[in-house]
Amino acid sequence: MPWKLTWSCYAGGHIACGVCDSCRLRLAAFAELGLADPIAYAR
Ligand SMILES: [Zn+2]
Repeated sequence: MPWKLTWSCYAGGHIACGVCDSCRLRLAAFAELGLADPIAYAR
């Protein structure tokens, strides 16, 4: 899966904010799969 291409942070910065709904849904999905998210987060 091209995870890096699926990132759609509402903040729209160079890196994902890690706190908006989009980021949290993404992080929750990775946690559920037991995977590490390859992209960087602001926090
Ligand atoms: Zn975000």
